[in-house]
Amino acid sequence: MTTKGRDEAWLPDLVCAGGRLVRETAIVTGSDGRILRLSQAPDDLARSERLANRAAFPGFVNVHSHAFQRAIRGRTEHRTAASRDTFWTWREKMYRAAQSLTPEGVYATALMVFTEMALAGITTVGEFHYLHHRPDGSRYDDPLALDDSVVHAARDSGLRIVLLQCAYARAGWKQPPNPGQSRFLYRSAAEFCDDLDALRVRLAEHLPGSEVLVGVAPHSLRAVPLPDLHTIAHHAQRHALPVHIHVSEQRGENEQCKNEHGATPVTVLANEGLLWPDLTAIHCVHVSPKEVDMLAAAGASVCACPTTERNLGDGVLPAKRLFEAGVNLALGSDGQIQIAPLEDARELEYHLRLNLEQRAILAPPSGAACDADGLAAVLLRSATAAGARCLGARVGSLEPGLFADFFTVDLRDPSIAGAGTSLAAFVFGLERTAIRDVIVGGKAIVRDGLHPAAAEAAIKFGEVQRGLWRDS
Ligand SMILES: [Zn+2]
Repeated sequence: MTTKGRDEAWLPDLVCAGGRLVRETAIVTGSDGRILRLSQAPDDLARSERLANRAAFPGFVNVHSHAFQRAIRGRTEHRTAASRDTFWTWREKMYRAAQSLTPEGVYATALMVFTEMALAGITTVGEFHYLHHRPDGSRYDDPLALDDSVVHAARDSGLRIVLLQCAYARAGWKQPPNPGQSRFLYRSAAEFCDDLDALRVRLAEHLPGSEVLVGVAPHSLRAVPLPDLHTIAHHAQRHALPVHIHVSEQRGENEQCKNEHGATPVTVLANEGLLWPDLTAIHCVHVSPKEVDMLAAAGASVCACPTTERNLGDGVLPAKRLFEAGVNLALGSDGQIQIAPLEDARELEYHLRLNLEQRAILAPPSGAACDADGLAAVLLRSATAAGARCLGARVGSLEPGLFADFFTVDLRDPSIAGAGTSLAAFVFGLERTAIRDVIVGGKAIVRDGLHPAAAEAAIKFGEVQRGLWRDS
């Protein structure tokens, strides 16, 4: 219980709470980093900070990140020798970068992208971490060395992290080993679970106080055989850990799954009893209407990554159907093509507009025809509270009991000037230039648009890139 004298208050002009913008409201936080209350009378507190010309929003929750892929941003935007460039040709280039990074390089790359995330208003990241071993596939003396690299980068950037430990067993059913995957592979599901338990203990000792630190990420049905998937998923379930898995990003992935299991991934997961409320299916671009209903019936979540899916030519998420079915739909930066949570959110809607030649497709129905902010609230929720649910984190909304994770925007920034209390004006217009303060657990990690680690991170990351690319 926090004593009253240690409470603090943040006083922006506007606070986004309950899906709308309210005036003259303070965010009161306790010494444990949680929100105590939203208050209109913060006079008797030990400290209060007036944030003039600013609006506060809940911090974005980035559910699906592969930090090391920041190293290939912009490095794959050309043709290869293949007859047709797709996700699969991109993947080979990504593997080449993954082969080259040292533990220090993994740290530097993660620090770079996590710092960028902080500057973009992201306060929690779910890091789907699958670089585990040396390039030749042998284990480091400390098998968790690369987990440490990523966790330390998150800590040094100030982000809250949920480390989603990835399980990867094979290139695919009846497929020869792919040397590009040697750093990902576990030797047995039992060993993977042992490493996971060691990671949980280590993080609990090093980073006490956070509610959820670890999740489990069987990479995909392509990469993990079913018996192993059961072992790993049920281990996670016993420890109440979130489970994340790539699902139906590519048509080719669906075909491989049908060849092995006779059905596409969501159907296989449902048949195996592995769809449950703590499961998040990443992508779900190529899912059938019936599979959307299966996800909804199970209470499972979906994480879309539209800026990456757009870049890789994956396809268009059936977002309308997912929302109509009541699926919890969150967002991730995935391949780090862009770090722009609201751009991901807007693309849920915009991709459908291009396909259907209509507007306001994801706006809530029924009696809401005049709700100017209904669509914006839906999209903002995907970038915040929906993600918190996927990660099991007590964040994503400005309400008592949750961690005080939020960011402020400068109301005079050109991208949102004149927005008033229109939530839609913020959600559809906001650019990163407007973001001024980013607060995680009641502590500022960005002030006045500046992150203290950003300059050093860029220098160290530049050195990594010089080692990877001849033109750097
Ligand atoms: Zn991914």
